[in-house]
Amino acid sequence: MNYTPENYKIKDESMKPFIDAEEIWELINSIKPTKERVREVIAKSLDKKRLSLEETAVLVNTTDPELIEEIKQGARTLKEKVYGHRIVLFAPLYVGNLCTNNCAYCGYKASNKSVKRVTLNKEELVKEVETLQDAGHKRLILVYGEHPKYGAEFIAKSVKEVYKVKKGNGEIRRVNINAAPLDIEGFKIVKDSGIGTYQVFQETYNPDAYKKVHISGKKRDFDWRLTSLDRAQEAGIDDVGIGALFGLYDWRFEVLGILRHVNHFEAVYKVGPHTISFPRLQNATNLDIDPKYSVSDEDFTKLVAIFRLAVPYTGLILTAREPQKIRDEIMQFGVSQIDGGTNIEMKGYSEKNKKQHLDKEQFVINDNRSLNEIMNELIENDYIPSFCTACYRLGRTGEHFMEFSVPGFIKRYCTPNAILTLAEYLEDYAPAETKKKGYKLIDDELSKLEEDKRVIKLKEKLSALREKGKRDLYF
Ligand code: SAM
Repeated sequence: MNYTPENYKIKDESMKPFIDAEEIWELINSIKPTKERVREVIAKSLDKKRLSLEETAVLVNTTDPELIEEIKQGARTLKEKVYGHRIVLFAPLYVGNLCTNNCAYCGYKASNKSVKRVTLNKEELVKEVETLQDAGHKRLILVYGEHPKYGAEFIAKSVKEVYKVKKGNGEIRRVNINAAPLDIEGFKIVKDSGIGTYQVFQETYNPDAYKKVHISGKKRDFDWRLTSLDRAQEAGIDDVGIGALFGLYDWRFEVLGILRHVNHFEAVYKVGPHTISFPRLQNATNLDIDPKYSVSDEDFTKLVAIFRLAVPYTGLILTAREPQKIRDEIMQFGVSQIDGGTNIEMKGYSEKNKKQHLDKEQFVINDNRSLNEIMNELIENDYIPSFCTACYRLGRTGEHFMEFSVPGFIKRYCTPNAILTLAEYLEDYAPAETKKKGYKLIDDELSKLEEDKRVIKLKEKLSALREKGKRDLYF
């Protein structure tokens, strides 16, 4: 289907596809980075200014190892300036793996007949959520295949079910979505169920490469997908997540494609996407992808550092697709969210399947640590693990979120809220040893803060939480 404003029910011309492959290649082919220019671009970013496409292309084209190290160091410094030490934790939960698409990279493609197709019924969904709550999770992303059964009403219903589940002190306070694009009406229905972020990855921003890997099904339509989050905005969802699947096409093109998408959002809605994801291609049942574009560890770590510098205020999500070693390195230069205790098998959390079965999963994951193992390691490495959900619950989303985050307010809101949600975890879910280490980290953090009104309030909230059993306290 060709794109026309009518067939996508869009409001105006601003929603026209905005990716020009030639423009992106022209940038990649024409820019030759000099030492001075690379340093100038890093300095601009450290001044917390968002980089242009041209400036990002300078970093993308940098190959000198000394300068690449400077890019990574720049990302580390910027992370400290903007985000501090906190890192937000979440878990993915697959609600249904029925799918009508045939995507060459996906284990859940319709033609994979060996894959067991499951749609969680209410009881099964509750069981998964209770297990996640028992581990200490407060934030989930629900994942769905693309299938007529998983329309907006179905998604909204499952979101509401998840919010209703409360086991002990457990509750899910933010439900994000990763599902196929909807029309405006559909996005409105899902918004009304109370979601946080709606995530749709473009997979590849190159239209020709896109056609090659999306063999059949609704997902084959590049423009329908590219304009999906405009429709989400139109429906009132101002917290959206974008991303590309790295390994389908030249990574340099994808970085600039994502940045072009960010530009489009900022130009039209005055606010960029809430998060950027950069899943890297993993093995899957009947994976059928030319390895020509596979991204090395070296390029992968570099490209994440480039994202941090290019968009200082956008959240970056790194998932358990990557092994611990890569996660540890990348977290240092600017990831804001990671998943923990991840299991992507259908019913995988409640059935406690430790071993992975490729035939039951969409792709391989390489970090199988439990949430508590990850919490321990984060604490030992002086990160403050956070389960904070305050911003979206207080309406600090979209443009409002930018107002708070841009002048460096992230530290003022996020650090106290990270401390409070960590304390909740330590009280309700942590083994004794983690609890001890966690409170030591909290004490160290508190001693670094100047004793102003906010810190006094924070200390009051902490004692209410520890001594009076109060929960869900935030700024
Ligand atoms: N059906 C939804 C859609 O159309 O967006 C959900 C897609 S899937 C659950 C979430 C993401 O996983 C995809 O958008 C893709 O980027 C990623 N993914 C798919 N196959 C993968 C693979 N083999 N390795 C790594 N990531 C993969």
